[in-house]
Amino acid sequence: MNDETICKTCVIQLDKVSSTFQQASVAHSLTQLDILKKPRKVINVNFPVKMDDGSIKIFSGYRVQYSNARGPAKGGLRFHPEVHLEEIKVLAFLMSLKCAVINIPYGGAKGGVVCDPKQLSQGELERLSRAFIREIAVDIGPHVDVPAPDVNTTGQIMDWMRDEYEKIIGKPCPAVITGKPVGKGGSKGREYSTSLGGMHVLKAFMDHLKLNQKGATVAVQGFGNVGYHLARLLEQDGFVVVAVSDSQSAIYNPKGMSIAKASAYKEKNKSFKGFPDAKLIAQNELLELPVDILALAALENAVTENNAKKIQAKLILEMANAPVSPEADEILAQRSIPVIPDILANAGGVGVSYFEWKQNLDGKYWSEDEVNAQLKTLMTNATRDVITQWSKNKKATIRNAAYVLAIQRIVEAEKKRGNI
Ligand code: NAD
Repeated sequence: MNDETICKTCVIQLDKVSSTFQQASVAHSLTQLDILKKPRKVINVNFPVKMDDGSIKIFSGYRVQYSNARGPAKGGLRFHPEVHLEEIKVLAFLMSLKCAVINIPYGGAKGGVVCDPKQLSQGELERLSRAFIREIAVDIGPHVDVPAPDVNTTGQIMDWMRDEYEKIIGKPCPAVITGKPVGKGGSKGREYSTSLGGMHVLKAFMDHLKLNQKGATVAVQGFGNVGYHLARLLEQDGFVVVAVSDSQSAIYNPKGMSIAKASAYKEKNKSFKGFPDAKLIAQNELLELPVDILALAALENAVTENNAKKIQAKLILEMANAPVSPEADEILAQRSIPVIPDILANAGGVGVSYFEWKQNLDGKYWSEDEVNAQLKTLMTNATRDVITQWSKNKKATIRNAAYVLAIQRIVEAEKKRGNI
């Protein structure tokens, strides 16, 4: 999604929230919302890195701490040639909302370095990661701002960054960063936490909407980390996954398919094409199938004004970021198809990042079962709070309810601090 679309999405959402505040005569004035219209702190660094051929290259990096009202700023660091400050600001704003909506004690942040990691050797990548952390070290810390992986940044990169930070401060400090490998301060269960969190959110909504879960049919767009684990977990829980897709193809069997078999086939053949237990369909067809649940786990803008009228699912789960465009959101609302919004549906990942941080601070590590049980409680409680908010005005979307809840929590925190 380009900057303009993201900014438009957020401006639209913020405007909707403002008007909801007005309608509901909530105690916050629009002036109080002003505190959220700009990031609290923007850091821009330009720093040298020694390349393998001996030359020095200057890289630009950003860290935006959008809000710290509810706790340390929290959010990913991405390495990508198209990192732009305006996009980072919007993503940091969304992280603030995501942490608030699931009620974890964090603000929101995002950051990145303008670079193409595919063009860098391992050594260059390590020197760049360490150099960036040296630049922003005074502005981060376990109680200030806690970075995490994002696009093109891995557990290994988090490990280098944590090591560099610890050298600067002269003592161990694993809680400065999350997304570390298990065994090096990372949490068990992180790999599939986004999907598991999404499943708990979905099940809580289905309970509320009185939709049958046993045998409910699901189409999953995207079969990467999030889509694969979601399909696997839903099948395990008694749902029937009838369709899956990746960037090349989509397959459908109205009676359902084995996710283990589909995954093994794709692994071996690098594609779903030729999978014997389901027929090949066009990727767009998957979105329009007559299913109970449509789970969007690929890219932004999968459902737009062009196909929103053709969606037949009873419920949409946004596992990717912004897979339903604002225009499609309105059409789906008019058609009474509820959309469970990304800031709630895919927040399980940051939920387990929070657990990692807690384990690092306590120096005690949890079993996988314990992580998963805590995640279930966190996500189910968050969904209950969003449903309570939504129940106050069912004409508004679930997204709107989630935004209102998150913004109320942030504004309350700012008030308690005496900042507004
Ligand atoms: P991934 O790169 O592992 O997987 C993406 C999948 O989408 C791949 O299978 C790819 O083939 C597929 N895809 C791409 N274009 C497609 C298309 N046109 N039709 C169907 N499938 C298509 O990424 P991921 O980690 O699974 O993340 C998926 C989405 O969820 C992203 O938008 C990401 O930002 C978001 N998200 C991920 C996490 C996480 O913890 N990984 C957390 C929050 C949000």
